[in-house]
Amino acid sequence: MFFTFGFAYCQTPKLVVGIVIDQMSYDYLYRFDQHFGKDGFNRFLKNGVNCKNTTYNYVPTYTGPGHASIYTGTTPSNHGIVANDWYDRALLKSVYCVQDNTVKTVGSSSKYGKASPHLLETTTITDQLKLTYPNSKVVSISIKDRGAILPGGHMSNGTYWFDFQTGTFITSTYYTTALPEWVEAFNRLHPAKSYLQDWNLSLPLDRYSRTVDDSPYERVIPGKLAAVFPYTKEEIGSENYSGFTLTPFANTMLTDFAVSAMVKEGLGKDKLSDMLCISYSTPDIAGHEFGPYSLELEDIYLRLDRELAKLFQALDQEVGKKNYLVFLTADHAVVPVPQQLLDNKLPGGYLDIDSLTTDLNQFLSVKYGEPLILEENNLNFYFNREKIHALGLDLHTLQDEVSERLRSVPKVQLVLSGHDLDRNIKLSNWGEMIASGYTKERSGDVLMVLKPGFINKADDTKGTHQGTTHGSAFNYDTHVPLLWYGNGLERASIYRPISITDISATMVHFLNLQRPASMIGSPIDELWEE
Ligand code: ZN
Ligand code: ZN
Repeated sequence: MFFTFGFAYCQTPKLVVGIVIDQMSYDYLYRFDQHFGKDGFNRFLKNGVNCKNTTYNYVPTYTGPGHASIYTGTTPSNHGIVANDWYDRALLKSVYCVQDNTVKTVGSSSKYGKASPHLLETTTITDQLKLTYPNSKVVSISIKDRGAILPGGHMSNGTYWFDFQTGTFITSTYYTTALPEWVEAFNRLHPAKSYLQDWNLSLPLDRYSRTVDDSPYERVIPGKLAAVFPYTKEEIGSENYSGFTLTPFANTMLTDFAVSAMVKEGLGKDKLSDMLCISYSTPDIAGHEFGPYSLELEDIYLRLDRELAKLFQALDQEVGKKNYLVFLTADHAVVPVPQQLLDNKLPGGYLDIDSLTTDLNQFLSVKYGEPLILEENNLNFYFNREKIHALGLDLHTLQDEVSERLRSVPKVQLVLSGHDLDRNIKLSNWGEMIASGYTKERSGDVLMVLKPGFINKADDTKGTHQGTTHGSAFNYDTHVPLLWYGNGLERASIYRPISITDISATMVHFLNLQRPASMIGSPIDELWEE
């Protein structure tokens, strides 16, 4: 299974490693490059292929949809993961994208393992590998359950995530009835406790791209009085492990767990290709708290660079330099803290979606005698369809009416209704992105996009204008790194626009597989051309 098309000498890789950095903006590759050693991000930047204009092609840009889109090669409109949480019209409540109440936790007695990919409605590239070559191995790991479950697909040999209650790695009965011995052994070291250290800046302050530690835009985490270094072990706390997961030490733990998986599962050791999916959640957990321009985040990335170097070293040793292929991307990027935008005279701010929903319901009550919006979720308005039916009202008319009203709200960029989207009307840019993130079952009756730089006031969780989020259609959320290294690839930069759904379309050709069922991406054919 060899092919030569100019670009060095490519063979089917024995191991493909997919790395997703949860919340990584494209510019971090350059803003932080002064800190990068030769074997971390620079493996990709100096010896690999850099797809410089890779973007998400749908809204909302959240973790669940991002991971699902990378590995299915399609958008939420086709894979069904339309958000992290959405309102389920049959259950009359919000559901979480990997929640599965029919399965149990394996590896602890907590609730954190009640999860599976049962809501993912199409196949992943990892599924295609397992379906074609049952003896190929797929292992997927992350701190976040959705960061491991969606990449690993429906047929993985092992999908493991972090239990925030016990500080160990778990899985669910969807996959297996008992953890393999190597996971048990890793857990016996009490990883969340043994990896936690006092967190100090790793370099002198003047070496960072920003030098203000006590910035007004960073949230103060529980246990701290200010968002400043050092973060001691005591301050980070160990009663639950969410504090630990925002420190760089959680990345170290995950890297060591990945290396264990590689060695103990014998990944890349035989003729059949294997896949290892790793999703680093910490940059997102910390990114929400501290924002993209914090010293905290910069220190996390410079330390993450060392983790990547460690991973590459293990790959060189265990699988051999020419035998593996690695890609690195992100599930979304992030908007700067809106208050920081405002203070820099840039457009942005906070829009109170809860009171907007109340206003809409008041309008509907006056007109129809009932508040007809049940819930707002991720800028999707879900209507009370039963009531609408009982009152003999027309759903489409109501959708159009509410849309029209929302269009008059300042700071709202675009509004589309289910009525618009189900009719397949002609859309432009942001409208197309809404349509690609929409399913008639799981999305709202009316969907909207806020103006650039605006977030829902509810996402300003402490009401302090500190910290930030993501989820929009704009470039600060959609432009992410996409880097390839190994398998004979030579250094190159690709400037043409590439879509996140092109990653799986490209993997199809590295692994010679049938395409994932609803894949819509195109292969990055420059990887095989001069
Ligand atoms: Zn994410
Ligand atoms: Zn996030």
